[in-house]
Amino acid sequence: MEYKRSSALFAEAQKVIPGGVNSPVRAFKAVGGDPIFVKSAKGAYLYDEDGNTLIDYINSWGPMILGHAYPAVVDAVIDKAKKGTSFGMPTQIETAIAQKAIAMVPNIDKIRFVNSGTEACMSAIRLARGYTHREKIIKFAGCYHGHSDSFLIQAGSGAVTFGTPNSPGVTQGTAKDTLLANYNDIESVAALMQANKDQVAAIIVEPVAGNMGCIPPQEGFLEGLRTLCDQNGTLLIFDEVMTGFRLAKGGVQERLGITADIATYGKVIGGGLPVGAFAARAEIMDYLAPQGPVYQAGTLSGNPLAMAAGLAMLTALEDDAIFTRLDEKTAYLHKGIASALSENKVAHTINRIGSMISVHFSEDAVVDFATAAKGDNATFKAFFHGMLSQGIYIAPSAYESWFITDALTYADLDKTIAAVGTVAKTL
Ligand SMILES: *Cc1c(COP(=O)(O)O)cnc(C)c1O
Repeated sequence: MEYKRSSALFAEAQKVIPGGVNSPVRAFKAVGGDPIFVKSAKGAYLYDEDGNTLIDYINSWGPMILGHAYPAVVDAVIDKAKKGTSFGMPTQIETAIAQKAIAMVPNIDKIRFVNSGTEACMSAIRLARGYTHREKIIKFAGCYHGHSDSFLIQAGSGAVTFGTPNSPGVTQGTAKDTLLANYNDIESVAALMQANKDQVAAIIVEPVAGNMGCIPPQEGFLEGLRTLCDQNGTLLIFDEVMTGFRLAKGGVQERLGITADIATYGKVIGGGLPVGAFAARAEIMDYLAPQGPVYQAGTLSGNPLAMAAGLAMLTALEDDAIFTRLDEKTAYLHKGIASALSENKVAHTINRIGSMISVHFSEDAVVDFATAAKGDNATFKAFFHGMLSQGIYIAPSAYESWFITDALTYADLDKTIAAVGTVAKTL
Protein backbone atom coordinates (compact mmCIF):
# COMPACT_ATOMS: atom_id res chain seq x y z
CA MET A 1 0.00 0.00 0.00
CA GLU A 2 1.15 3.48 -0.86
CA TYR A 3 0.77 6.46 1.43
CA LYS A 4 2.33 9.19 -0.73
CA ARG A 5 -0.65 11.51 -0.68
CA SER A 6 -1.16 11.09 3.09
CA SER A 7 2.50 11.95 3.67
CA ALA A 8 2.22 15.05 1.47
CA LEU A 9 -0.94 16.15 3.29
CA PHE A 10 0.77 15.56 6.63
CA ALA A 11 3.73 17.76 5.58
CA GLU A 12 1.28 20.52 4.65
CA ALA A 13 -0.65 20.12 7.92
CA GLN A 14 2.51 20.35 10.02
CA LYS A 15 3.14 23.87 8.76
CA VAL A 16 -0.11 25.18 10.24
CA ILE A 17 -1.16 22.72 12.96
CA PRO A 18 1.23 21.74 15.80
CA GLY A 19 2.52 18.29 14.95
CA GLY A 20 0.08 18.23 12.03
CA VAL A 21 -2.76 16.88 14.18
CA ASN A 22 -5.50 18.21 16.46
CA SER A 23 -5.01 15.41 18.99
CA PRO A 24 -1.57 13.90 19.66
CA VAL A 25 -2.58 10.26 19.55
CA ARG A 26 -3.45 10.61 15.84
CA ALA A 27 0.20 11.14 14.97
CA PHE A 28 2.27 7.97 14.64
CA LYS A 29 4.88 9.08 17.19
CA ALA A 30 4.75 5.81 19.14
CA VAL A 31 5.09 3.61 16.06
CA GLY A 32 7.00 5.80 13.60
CA GLY A 33 5.96 6.95 10.14
CA ASP A 34 3.33 9.42 8.97
CA PRO A 35 -0.35 9.27 9.94
CA ILE A 36 -2.91 8.27 7.33
CA PHE A 37 -5.32 10.91 6.07
CA VAL A 38 -8.84 9.58 5.77
CA LYS A 39 -11.20 10.69 3.04
CA SER A 40 -14.38 8.88 4.01
CA ALA A 41 -15.62 5.85 5.86
CA LYS A 42 -18.59 3.51 5.74
CA GLY A 43 -19.45 0.62 8.05
CA ALA A 44 -16.27 -1.16 9.12
CA TYR A 45 -14.07 0.42 6.43
CA LEU A 46 -11.91 3.50 6.06
CA TYR A 47 -11.11 4.93 2.63
CA ASP A 48 -7.91 6.95 2.72
CA GLU A 49 -6.55 9.75 0.54
CA ASP A 50 -4.30 7.32 -1.38
CA GLY A 51 -7.24 5.12 -2.37
CA ASN A 52 -6.54 2.31 0.11
CA THR A 53 -9.34 0.52 1.95
CA LEU A 54 -8.63 -0.35 5.58
CA ILE A 55 -10.59 -2.43 8.10
CA ASP A 56 -11.00 -0.05 11.04
CA TYR A 57 -10.35 -1.21 14.62
CA ILE A 58 -10.26 2.29 16.11
CA ASN A 59 -13.62 3.62 15.00
CA SER A 60 -12.90 7.18 16.02
CA TRP A 61 -11.55 5.79 19.34
CA GLY A 62 -14.89 4.31 20.23
CA PRO A 63 -17.90 6.31 19.08
CA MET A 64 -18.65 4.41 15.86
CA ILE A 65 -19.84 1.27 17.65
CA LEU A 66 -22.33 0.55 14.85
CA GLY A 67 -19.90 1.44 12.07
CA HIS A 68 -19.16 4.62 10.14
CA ALA A 69 -21.89 6.72 8.53
CA TYR A 70 -24.61 4.76 10.33
CA PRO A 71 -27.75 5.74 8.37
CA ALA A 72 -30.05 6.62 11.30
CA VAL A 73 -27.39 8.93 12.77
CA VAL A 74 -26.53 10.58 9.44
CA ASP A 75 -30.22 11.17 8.64
CA ALA A 76 -30.91 12.64 12.07
CA VAL A 77 -28.03 15.12 11.70
CA ILE A 78 -29.02 16.21 8.19
CA ASP A 79 -32.61 16.68 9.23
CA LYS A 80 -31.62 18.79 12.27
CA ALA A 81 -29.04 20.88 10.40
CA LYS A 82 -31.72 22.20 8.08
CA LYS A 83 -33.59 23.61 11.09
CA GLY A 84 -30.68 25.59 12.53
CA THR A 85 -27.43 24.43 14.06
CA SER A 86 -27.32 26.23 17.43
CA PHE A 87 -29.62 28.46 19.45
CA GLY A 88 -28.24 28.90 22.96
CA MET A 89 -31.82 28.27 24.12
CA PRO A 90 -33.45 25.09 25.46
CA THR A 91 -34.65 22.56 22.91
CA GLN A 92 -36.95 19.60 23.37
CA ILE A 93 -34.41 17.10 21.98
CA GLU A 94 -32.15 17.73 25.02
CA THR A 95 -34.92 16.40 27.29
CA ALA A 96 -35.53 13.50 24.91
CA ILE A 97 -31.90 12.28 24.96
CA ALA A 98 -31.69 12.85 28.74
CA GLN A 99 -34.80 10.69 29.26
CA LYS A 100 -33.38 8.02 26.96
CA ALA A 101 -29.97 7.92 28.68
CA ILE A 102 -31.53 7.85 32.16
CA ALA A 103 -33.76 4.93 31.11
CA MET A 104 -30.75 2.99 29.78
CA VAL A 105 -28.29 3.56 32.64
CA PRO A 106 -28.88 2.37 36.23
CA ASN A 107 -28.59 4.69 39.26
CA ILE A 108 -28.89 8.06 37.53
CA ASP A 109 -31.75 10.56 37.92
CA LYS A 110 -30.34 13.54 36.04
CA ILE A 111 -27.73 14.11 33.37
CA ARG A 112 -25.98 17.17 31.97
CA PHE A 113 -24.55 17.29 28.47
CA VAL A 114 -21.20 18.86 27.59
CA ASN A 115 -18.94 18.71 24.53
CA SER A 116 -16.28 16.11 25.33
CA GLY A 117 -15.22 13.40 27.74
CA THR A 118 -12.59 15.79 29.10
CA GLU A 119 -15.24 18.32 30.00
CA ALA A 120 -17.43 15.65 31.56
CA CYS A 121 -14.66 14.41 33.89
CA MET A 122 -13.46 17.91 34.73
CA SER A 123 -17.01 18.93 35.65
CA ALA A 124 -17.64 15.70 37.59
CA ILE A 125 -14.75 16.34 39.98
CA ARG A 126 -15.77 19.97 40.45
CA LEU A 127 -19.26 18.75 41.33
CA ALA A 128 -17.84 16.14 43.71
CA ARG A 129 -15.66 18.74 45.40
CA GLY A 130 -18.55 21.17 45.72
CA TYR A 131 -20.87 18.50 47.06
CA THR A 132 -18.45 17.07 49.64
CA HIS A 133 -16.68 20.36 50.51
CA ARG A 134 -13.37 18.50 50.12
CA GLU A 135 -10.46 19.15 47.76
CA LYS A 136 -8.47 16.00 47.05
CA ILE A 137 -9.21 13.31 44.49
CA ILE A 138 -7.74 9.86 43.95
CA LYS A 139 -6.97 8.62 40.46
CA PHE A 140 -5.15 5.55 39.18
CA ALA A 141 -1.84 5.42 37.32
CA GLY A 142 -2.54 4.68 33.67
CA CYS A 143 -6.20 5.75 33.77
CA TYR A 144 -7.04 8.60 31.40
CA HIS A 145 -9.78 11.07 32.18
CA GLY A 146 -9.14 13.66 29.48
CA HIS A 147 -6.59 16.43 29.37
CA SER A 148 -7.72 18.77 32.15
CA ASP A 149 -5.00 19.76 34.63
CA SER A 150 -6.08 17.62 37.58
CA PHE A 151 -5.78 14.42 35.57
CA LEU A 152 -2.42 14.91 33.86
CA ILE A 153 -0.65 13.36 36.78
CA GLN A 154 1.43 10.19 36.68
CA ALA A 155 3.06 7.94 39.24
CA GLY A 156 6.74 8.43 40.07
CA SER A 157 8.53 5.06 39.83
CA GLY A 158 5.35 3.17 40.57
CA ALA A 159 5.26 4.51 44.10
CA VAL A 160 1.97 5.51 45.61
CA THR A 161 2.75 9.10 46.35
CA PHE A 162 1.67 12.65 45.67
CA GLY A 163 1.30 13.08 41.97
CA THR A 164 3.78 15.00 39.91
CA PRO A 165 2.50 16.68 36.75
CA ASN A 166 3.36 14.86 33.53
CA SER A 167 2.90 17.94 31.39
CA PRO A 168 4.54 21.35 31.67
CA GLY A 169 1.80 23.87 32.38
CA VAL A 170 0.15 21.82 35.11
CA THR A 171 0.97 23.56 38.38
CA GLN A 172 2.27 21.90 41.54
CA GLY A 173 -0.69 23.52 43.27
CA THR A 174 -3.09 21.51 41.14
CA ALA A 175 -1.01 18.35 41.28
CA LYS A 176 -0.97 18.28 45.07
CA ASP A 177 -4.72 17.64 45.16
CA THR A 178 -4.51 14.58 42.91
CA LEU A 179 -3.45 11.44 44.76
CA LEU A 180 -2.28 8.43 42.79
CA ALA A 181 -3.12 4.81 43.42
CA ASN A 182 -2.45 1.61 41.47
CA TYR A 183 -5.18 -0.04 39.43
CA ASN A 184 -6.44 -3.34 40.86
CA ASP A 185 -4.63 -2.59 44.14
CA ILE A 186 -7.23 -1.79 46.77
CA GLU A 187 -4.55 -1.56 49.49
CA SER A 188 -2.96 1.39 47.68
CA VAL A 189 -6.32 3.17 47.82
CA ALA A 190 -6.99 2.27 51.46
CA ALA A 191 -3.57 3.70 52.41
CA LEU A 192 -4.33 7.02 50.68
CA MET A 193 -7.77 7.23 52.29
CA GLN A 194 -6.19 6.59 55.69
CA ALA A 195 -3.48 9.22 55.19
CA ASN A 196 -5.98 11.82 53.93
CA LYS A 197 -8.89 11.32 56.29
CA ASP A 198 -11.95 13.48 55.51
CA GLN A 199 -10.13 15.17 52.64
CA VAL A 200 -10.91 12.97 49.64
CA ALA A 201 -13.86 14.29 47.63
CA ALA A 202 -13.85 11.53 45.02
CA ILE A 203 -12.19 8.46 43.64
CA ILE A 204 -12.31 8.56 39.84
CA VAL A 205 -11.71 5.32 37.98
CA GLU A 206 -12.15 3.74 34.58
CA PRO A 207 -14.26 0.81 35.87
CA VAL A 208 -12.80 -1.23 33.02
CA ALA A 209 -9.52 0.44 32.09
CA GLY A 210 -9.06 1.12 28.40
CA ASN A 211 -6.23 3.62 28.20
CA MET A 212 -3.37 1.29 29.16
CA GLY A 213 -4.68 -1.38 26.87
CA CYS A 214 -7.82 -3.07 28.13
CA ILE A 215 -7.53 -4.01 31.82
CA PRO A 216 -10.62 -5.46 33.47
CA PRO A 217 -11.06 -4.87 37.20
CA GLN A 218 -10.08 -7.90 39.27
CA GLU A 219 -12.64 -9.57 41.51
CA GLY A 220 -13.37 -7.32 44.47
CA PHE A 221 -11.54 -4.19 43.21
CA LEU A 222 -14.58 -2.08 42.31
CA GLU A 223 -16.50 -3.48 45.29
CA GLY A 224 -13.58 -2.42 47.48
CA LEU A 225 -13.66 1.11 46.07
CA ARG A 226 -17.41 1.27 46.72
CA THR A 227 -16.88 0.23 50.36
CA LEU A 228 -14.01 2.67 50.95
CA CYS A 229 -16.11 5.50 49.51
CA ASP A 230 -19.09 4.60 51.69
CA GLN A 231 -16.91 4.44 54.81
CA ASN A 232 -15.28 7.81 54.14
CA GLY A 233 -18.04 10.00 52.70
CA THR A 234 -16.19 10.03 49.37
CA LEU A 235 -17.97 9.94 46.01
CA LEU A 236 -17.15 7.16 43.55
CA ILE A 237 -16.89 8.45 39.98
CA PHE A 238 -17.00 5.91 37.18
CA ASP A 239 -15.43 7.35 34.06
CA GLU A 240 -17.53 5.50 31.51
CA VAL A 241 -16.43 7.65 28.57
CA MET A 242 -15.11 4.51 26.87
CA THR A 243 -17.26 1.81 28.50
CA GLY A 244 -20.61 3.61 28.57
CA PHE A 245 -23.11 2.31 25.99
CA ARG A 246 -20.37 -0.13 24.89
CA LEU A 247 -20.01 -2.88 27.50
CA ALA A 248 -23.78 -2.80 27.97
CA LYS A 249 -26.56 -0.24 27.52
CA GLY A 250 -25.93 0.81 31.09
CA GLY A 251 -22.14 0.52 30.86
CA VAL A 252 -20.10 -1.07 33.66
CA GLN A 253 -22.68 -0.12 36.30
CA GLU A 254 -25.05 -2.52 34.55
CA ARG A 255 -22.56 -5.11 33.32
CA LEU A 256 -20.76 -5.64 36.64
CA GLY A 257 -23.59 -4.49 38.90
CA ILE A 258 -21.69 -1.89 40.90
CA THR A 259 -23.14 1.51 41.74
CA ALA A 260 -21.23 4.72 41.10
CA ASP A 261 -22.18 8.08 42.62
CA ILE A 262 -21.34 10.02 39.45
CA ALA A 263 -20.78 8.57 35.97
CA THR A 264 -19.21 10.33 33.01
CA TYR A 265 -19.86 9.65 29.34
CA GLY A 266 -18.47 10.57 25.94
CA LYS A 267 -17.56 8.75 22.74
CA VAL A 268 -20.56 6.48 21.92
CA ILE A 269 -23.10 8.84 23.53
CA GLY A 270 -22.49 11.40 20.75
CA GLY A 271 -22.72 9.00 17.84
CA GLY A 272 -19.60 10.63 16.36
CA LEU A 273 -20.42 14.23 17.19
CA PRO A 274 -18.72 16.10 20.07
CA VAL A 275 -20.73 15.08 23.14
CA GLY A 276 -19.87 14.30 26.72
CA ALA A 277 -22.14 13.99 29.72
CA PHE A 278 -22.10 13.45 33.47
CA ALA A 279 -24.89 12.03 35.53
CA ALA A 280 -25.79 11.15 39.12
CA ARG A 281 -28.70 10.91 41.50
CA ALA A 282 -30.80 14.08 41.77
CA GLU A 283 -29.43 15.13 45.16
CA ILE A 284 -25.91 15.42 43.68
CA MET A 285 -26.87 16.83 40.27
CA ASP A 286 -29.00 19.56 41.88
CA TYR A 287 -25.75 21.02 43.25
CA LEU A 288 -25.12 22.31 39.72
CA ALA A 289 -25.92 25.86 38.60
CA PRO A 290 -28.50 27.26 38.07
CA GLN A 291 -30.17 25.08 40.74
CA GLY A 292 -27.11 24.83 42.99
CA PRO A 293 -23.80 26.57 43.70
CA VAL A 294 -21.38 24.58 41.50
CA TYR A 295 -20.83 26.47 38.26
CA GLN A 296 -20.69 24.65 34.94
CA ALA A 297 -21.75 25.94 31.52
CA GLY A 298 -21.27 25.72 27.76
CA THR A 299 -22.29 27.80 24.73
CA LEU A 300 -22.60 24.71 22.54
CA SER A 301 -23.60 22.21 25.25
CA GLY A 302 -26.68 20.25 24.18
CA ASN A 303 -26.10 21.38 20.60
CA PRO A 304 -29.01 20.22 18.43
CA LEU A 305 -26.88 18.39 15.83
CA ALA A 306 -24.93 16.60 18.55
CA MET A 307 -28.11 15.72 20.46
CA ALA A 308 -29.75 14.40 17.28
CA ALA A 309 -26.76 12.16 16.55
CA GLY A 310 -26.63 10.96 20.16
CA LEU A 311 -30.35 10.30 20.36
CA ALA A 312 -30.31 8.29 17.12
CA MET A 313 -27.34 6.30 18.42
CA LEU A 314 -28.86 5.57 21.84
CA THR A 315 -32.15 4.61 20.21
CA ALA A 316 -30.34 2.08 18.02
CA LEU A 317 -28.51 0.72 21.09
CA GLU A 318 -31.74 -0.09 22.95
CA ASP A 319 -31.53 -3.45 21.18
CA ASP A 320 -29.62 -5.73 23.60
CA ALA A 321 -28.84 -8.14 20.76
CA ILE A 322 -26.21 -5.64 19.56
CA PHE A 323 -24.16 -6.10 22.73
CA THR A 324 -24.42 -9.88 22.49
CA ARG A 325 -23.26 -9.76 18.85
CA LEU A 326 -20.38 -7.44 19.76
CA ASP A 327 -19.28 -9.78 22.55
CA GLU A 328 -19.41 -12.79 20.23
CA LYS A 329 -17.46 -11.08 17.45
CA THR A 330 -14.81 -9.90 19.89
CA ALA A 331 -14.53 -13.36 21.48
CA TYR A 332 -14.09 -14.84 17.98
CA LEU A 333 -11.34 -12.34 17.21
CA HIS A 334 -9.69 -13.01 20.58
CA LYS A 335 -9.56 -16.76 19.91
CA GLY A 336 -8.27 -16.30 16.35
CA ILE A 337 -5.54 -13.81 17.26
CA ALA A 338 -4.42 -15.90 20.25
CA SER A 339 -3.98 -19.02 18.14
CA ALA A 340 -2.25 -17.15 15.29
CA LEU A 341 0.27 -15.67 17.76
CA SER A 342 0.73 -18.95 19.66
CA GLU A 343 1.31 -20.96 16.46
CA ASN A 344 4.12 -18.56 15.64
CA LYS A 345 5.49 -18.57 19.19
CA VAL A 346 4.95 -14.84 19.74
CA ALA A 347 4.81 -14.08 23.49
CA HIS A 348 1.54 -12.32 24.20
CA THR A 349 -1.28 -11.65 26.64
CA ILE A 350 -4.75 -10.73 25.38
CA ASN A 351 -7.12 -8.88 27.70
CA ARG A 352 -10.77 -8.66 26.80
CA ILE A 353 -14.13 -7.76 28.23
CA GLY A 354 -17.12 -7.35 25.92
CA SER A 355 -16.08 -5.40 22.83
CA MET A 356 -12.87 -4.03 24.33
CA ILE A 357 -9.75 -6.08 23.60
CA SER A 358 -6.01 -5.48 23.62
CA VAL A 359 -2.98 -7.49 22.58
CA HIS A 360 0.07 -7.08 24.83
CA PHE A 361 3.44 -8.44 23.73
CA SER A 362 4.37 -9.83 27.11
CA GLU A 363 3.65 -13.20 28.71
CA ASP A 364 2.91 -11.71 32.12
CA ALA A 365 -0.60 -10.88 33.24
CA VAL A 366 -1.44 -7.23 32.50
CA VAL A 367 -3.32 -5.89 35.52
CA ASP A 368 -2.10 -2.30 36.00
CA PHE A 369 0.08 0.40 34.47
CA ALA A 370 3.37 -1.18 35.53
CA THR A 371 2.53 -4.54 33.95
CA ALA A 372 1.10 -2.85 30.83
CA ALA A 373 4.38 -0.97 30.43
CA LYS A 374 6.29 -4.29 30.33
CA GLY A 375 5.01 -5.07 26.83
CA ASP A 376 7.66 -5.22 24.10
CA ASN A 377 7.35 -1.96 22.20
CA ALA A 378 9.57 -2.94 19.27
CA THR A 379 7.32 -5.95 18.65
CA PHE A 380 4.24 -3.75 18.85
CA LYS A 381 5.67 -1.33 16.27
CA ALA A 382 6.44 -4.18 13.87
CA PHE A 383 2.99 -5.64 14.50
CA PHE A 384 1.27 -2.29 13.86
CA HIS A 385 3.06 -1.66 10.55
CA GLY A 386 2.65 -5.28 9.49
CA MET A 387 -1.10 -5.14 10.09
CA LEU A 388 -1.34 -1.81 8.28
CA SER A 389 0.39 -3.25 5.22
CA GLN A 390 -2.33 -5.95 5.25
CA GLY A 391 -5.06 -3.31 5.28
CA ILE A 392 -5.86 -3.52 9.00
CA TYR A 393 -5.89 -0.28 10.97
CA ILE A 394 -5.30 -0.68 14.72
CA ALA A 395 -4.46 2.11 17.18
CA PRO A 396 -0.90 3.44 16.68
CA SER A 397 -0.02 2.87 20.34
CA ALA A 398 0.49 -0.21 22.49
CA TYR A 399 -1.56 1.42 25.25
CA GLU A 400 -4.86 1.44 23.42
CA SER A 401 -7.78 -0.92 23.38
CA TRP A 402 -9.14 -2.04 20.02
CA PHE A 403 -12.70 -0.84 19.47
CA ILE A 404 -14.90 -3.45 17.86
CA THR A 405 -17.83 -2.30 15.76
CA ASP A 406 -20.99 -4.21 14.97
CA ALA A 407 -20.40 -3.39 11.27
CA LEU A 408 -17.55 -5.96 11.19
CA THR A 409 -18.52 -9.19 9.44
CA TYR A 410 -17.04 -12.60 10.23
CA ALA A 411 -15.28 -12.36 6.85
CA ASP A 412 -13.59 -9.15 8.09
CA LEU A 413 -12.61 -10.91 11.32
CA ASP A 414 -11.20 -13.89 9.38
CA LYS A 415 -9.21 -11.53 7.17
CA THR A 416 -7.85 -9.83 10.30
CA ILE A 417 -6.89 -13.14 11.94
CA ALA A 418 -5.17 -14.26 8.71
CA ALA A 419 -3.24 -10.97 8.68
CA VAL A 420 -2.12 -11.58 12.29
CA GLY A 421 -0.85 -15.02 11.17
CA THR A 422 1.13 -13.48 8.31
CA VAL A 423 2.55 -10.69 10.45
CA ALA A 424 3.34 -13.05 13.36
CA LYS A 425 5.79 -14.97 11.15
CA THR A 426 7.86 -11.79 10.82
CA LEU A 427 7.92 -10.85 14.53
C1 LIG B 1 -11.48 9.34 25.64
C2 LIG B 1 -11.57 9.35 27.10
C3 LIG B 1 -11.72 10.56 27.82
C4 LIG B 1 -11.63 11.91 27.17
O1 LIG B 1 -12.68 12.15 26.27
P1 LIG B 1 -12.46 13.29 25.14
O2 LIG B 1 -13.80 13.33 24.46
O3 LIG B 1 -11.34 12.83 24.29
O4 LIG B 1 -12.16 14.56 25.84
C5 LIG B 1 -11.94 10.48 29.18
N1 LIG B 1 -11.99 9.29 29.81
C6 LIG B 1 -11.84 8.13 29.16
C7 LIG B 1 -11.94 6.84 29.91
C8 LIG B 1 -11.60 8.12 27.79
O5 LIG B 1 -11.41 6.95 27.16
